[in-house]
Amino acid sequence: MTDDHEIPVRVRPEIAALPPYRQGRQAGAEAFKLSSNENPFDPLPGVVDAVRGASALNRYPDATALRLRERLADRFGVTADGVHIGAGSVSIIAQLIAATSGPGDEVVYAWRSFEAYPGLAVVAGARSVQVPLDADAGHDLDAMAAAITDRTRAVIVCTPNNPTGTIVTQAAFDAFVARVPADVLVILDEAYAEFVTDPAAVRGETVLAAGRPNVVVLRTFSKAFGLAALRVGYAVGHPRVLDAARSTAIPLSVTAQAETAALASLDVEDELRERVAVIAERRDRVAAGLRAAGWRVPQAQGNFVWLPSGEATAAAAVRFDAAGLIVRAFPGDGIRISIGEEEAVDKVLQIAASVVEDLP
Ligand code: PMP
Repeated sequence: MTDDHEIPVRVRPEIAALPPYRQGRQAGAEAFKLSSNENPFDPLPGVVDAVRGASALNRYPDATALRLRERLADRFGVTADGVHIGAGSVSIIAQLIAATSGPGDEVVYAWRSFEAYPGLAVVAGARSVQVPLDADAGHDLDAMAAAITDRTRAVIVCTPNNPTGTIVTQAAFDAFVARVPADVLVILDEAYAEFVTDPAAVRGETVLAAGRPNVVVLRTFSKAFGLAALRVGYAVGHPRVLDAARSTAIPLSVTAQAETAALASLDVEDELRERVAVIAERRDRVAAGLRAAGWRVPQAQGNFVWLPSGEATAAAAVRFDAAGLIVRAFPGDGIRISIGEEEAVDKVLQIAASVVEDLP
C-alpha cells in the first residue's frame, strides 16, 4: 500500500488545497432535507412520462440542445444562438469564468454568496475578489464597482443572493452595469428568479431588452421547475459571449433526458408556477415567524431564509439536526433553511424560536 503522500501524480497546489463541493446530508425518512434549496414537490406526471419517452440510452444527446434553446429563445425574444444550455447553471458559471478569467485575472463577487464561485475561480487560475455584503446582507454594488480593476474580467451578481435571500433592484443593477467597463463580463445569476415577488427586483428580461452585450443572464430548471436531479440550466445573452462558454463546455454533458424534461416542464409551466407561489407564500410566513421570534432575517426572496447566527451557528445547526431538520450551516456566520414541505414549517419556527433565546 502506498501512503497518500507518496502518490506521484502532481496536482496543482491550489487544487490540492481546494475542498470539494460540500452537499447537505441526505435525509432519511424521518428528516426534512432543507439544506439544498430544492423544490419539495414531486415532478408532474407529464414530465416523468416525457423523460421515459426521451431518446434511447445508447445514443448521444443533441450536443447543443437546439429544441430547448429555440423554446427559451422565443420566451426571451432572442435568437437560438443567444441561449446556451448547461448541465446545471453551475456548469455555465464555470464555463464563463474559464472563458474570461485566467491566471492573474480577477473575478469580483459579493461574499457571502453561492459557495461554488470561489472554487470555480481557483480552477480557472483566476483570483477571487470578494466584496463583503452590506449591513442588510445584500450586495454592496458601490463597493463592487469600486473593486473593479484593469485585471477584472468577470463580475458575478447573485440575486436573490444565495444564502442571504436579498435582491438587487433593477435601478441599482442598471446603475452598476453603467459603471462596469464594456469588456468585463457581468454574470447575473438568477437561479431563484421565479420565487421573487418584490416588483423592484432586477429581471433578466429587462436587462436583456436594454441590449447590454456584456451581461449574461443565468437561470436553472433545478429550483422553481424542480428538476435538480437532471442537471439543466441555461444562459441568455450575446451570442458571441455565449460562444466562449460553448467553447469551454465539456461536450455532450446535457443529457437528452434533461432537455426533454425541461421542455415538458415548460409545457406545464402554469401548474409549476402555482407551486412556486405556494413556496413563496410559505417563505413569507416562515420569514415573518422568524422575525417575530426575534431573528434578524434579511429580505427573503428565494426559496430559503437566512438566520444570522454568527458564532452560535454550529451549535444551532446541531439542534435543528437533532429535531429532524437538515439545514445548511455556514460556521461563524449563519444558517440557511430551504422552504420545503408544509409539515416542516411549524417545526422550523419552533426550533428557531428556542435557538434564538440562547443567542449571545
Ligand atoms: N446559482 C446559485 C445562486 C445557486 O444557488 C445554485 C444552486 N444551488 C446554482 C447557481 C446552480 O444550480 P444548478 O447547477 O442546479 O442549475
